[in-house]
Amino acid sequence: MRMAALRVAIVGAGPSGIYAAEALSSLPDLVVDVDIFDALPVPFGLVRYGVAPDHTSIRGVRDTLDKTLNNEGVRFFGNVRVGVDISLNELSDDYDAVLLTYGASSDQHLGVPGEEHKGSIPATELVSWYCGNPDAQRTLIEDSIRGVSSVVVIGVGNVAVDVARILVKAPGALDETDMPQHVLDALSNTDITDVHIVGRRGPAQASFTTKELRELGELSGVEVLVDPDDLDMDAISLEAIASNKVAARNVEVLREWSSRAPQNLPRRLHFHFFRRPLELIGDNAVEGVVLERTEFGEDGQLRGTGSTEEIAAQLVVRSVGYRGVPIVGIELDERSGTIPNNAGRVTREGMVVPGIYVAGWIKRGPSGIIGTNKKCAVATVDALLADYADGSLPARAGAGSIVSLLEEHEIDFSTTQSWRNVDIAERELGQSRGRERTTIHERSDLLVVGRNG
Ligand SMILES: Cc1cc2nc3c(=O)[nH]c(=O)nc-3n(C[C@H](O)[C@H](O)[C@H](O)COP(=O)(O)OP(=O)(O)OC[C@H]3O[C@@H](n4cnc5c(N)ncnc54)[C@H](O)[C@@H]3O)c2cc1C
Repeated sequence: MRMAALRVAIVGAGPSGIYAAEALSSLPDLVVDVDIFDALPVPFGLVRYGVAPDHTSIRGVRDTLDKTLNNEGVRFFGNVRVGVDISLNELSDDYDAVLLTYGASSDQHLGVPGEEHKGSIPATELVSWYCGNPDAQRTLIEDSIRGVSSVVVIGVGNVAVDVARILVKAPGALDETDMPQHVLDALSNTDITDVHIVGRRGPAQASFTTKELRELGELSGVEVLVDPDDLDMDAISLEAIASNKVAARNVEVLREWSSRAPQNLPRRLHFHFFRRPLELIGDNAVEGVVLERTEFGEDGQLRGTGSTEEIAAQLVVRSVGYRGVPIVGIELDERSGTIPNNAGRVTREGMVVPGIYVAGWIKRGPSGIIGTNKKCAVATVDALLADYADGSLPARAGAGSIVSLLEEHEIDFSTTQSWRNVDIAERELGQSRGRERTTIHERSDLLVVGRNG
């Protein structure tokens, strides 16, 4: 019979949680039982509900993560919100250690007047909707994009680039993806002709990667417009491109676009650098954005120049960062939106909280690529194993019977088998429409299909 030396609960089945489960369940000389909990009925976090559906090879990481769910001793419990359906204390009582990998699901605000107008939405919500997240605000998004011809996307990271690309793509260009049918229908029926990407700082400071940027120039029927004046390099930008190869390559791509002759294509993507939003105008619904030109001062700080301009738009997508939210029993660093920790050991007022660990975006903030979470999760697992080896994990108080506890709390939880059933059903649904897969987006459907196959 399998006798585990250690029982670990992981909160969040995104890449960092699953990489941690892989590290814990494949140790050559220690048997570890790992239970992974997720608020959603199905695993994979932002790999399923963030990575753009038209980036099929990156979404394919899901298949690698999926293999870990088959490892001996690894169980998945979906539809369980830790901090709501079950408390952190209950998990701590039942496991030798709890590892928090629940990501950064909230959005940062712009802090400008008009931000609450109809037609001003966070990228987090738009992304959730087009990926078929069961918690997406479908009505809000579909009402926001209906009848829109001009969109402003505020932010110059990869998420902003994803959002701009999805919105500007030609009708039908997303039909091969696993997006739910209602999303494909809504995107095919938009009247969007212009998408403006706005960055506070210059092209040399933008955080998108060159591959994602370059892709924008290859979209069928889409012209990319860059103002050559935005590419005049000040001393700070020259230093940035001299010391950062990605920045240099990005500027090169933008420079090439800025020199292209007008093509008069049906849709346009406009880049606006060195502009910050001052106000979203309109009575109740967005009609435009007032931008102020910015520049670097002699002290190297960005400052407004007082010169303003307006872009007419009926939709503003705020893509200025994701941030973590607290769960009961855990303090968050308000500034960074992450959980304070010492090499992955959660701390409270500077002191280590025994038996509680953190990895992934909720440890580091929203940065890096999917693979960055592997390194991060493995480092935290190393800290956990070192604490186990030197006897500093707290004694377990509970009976170790999580299933009874979930049943006691009347939680309709899903399992790895439920995900397997959903996986088959999504492939069948997709194939019936000539695609590889179609995402099932209703929570109740995910639970019913998961249960019954
Ligand atoms: C829009 C977008 C596009 C991206 N595209 C790419 C890309 O193309 N390439 C790339 O390399 N990286 C990309 N990333 C980054 C990548 O997705 C992240 O690095 C990675 O997902 C972070 O992993 P994580 O496990 O820390 O968090 P997440 O993936 O967010 O996983 C956290 C999990 O915790 C669960 N959870 C939250 N709260 C609770 C709770 N209270 N109880 C239980 N469970 C909870 C969530 O449901 C979620 O499943 C993208 C990110 C975004 C937002």
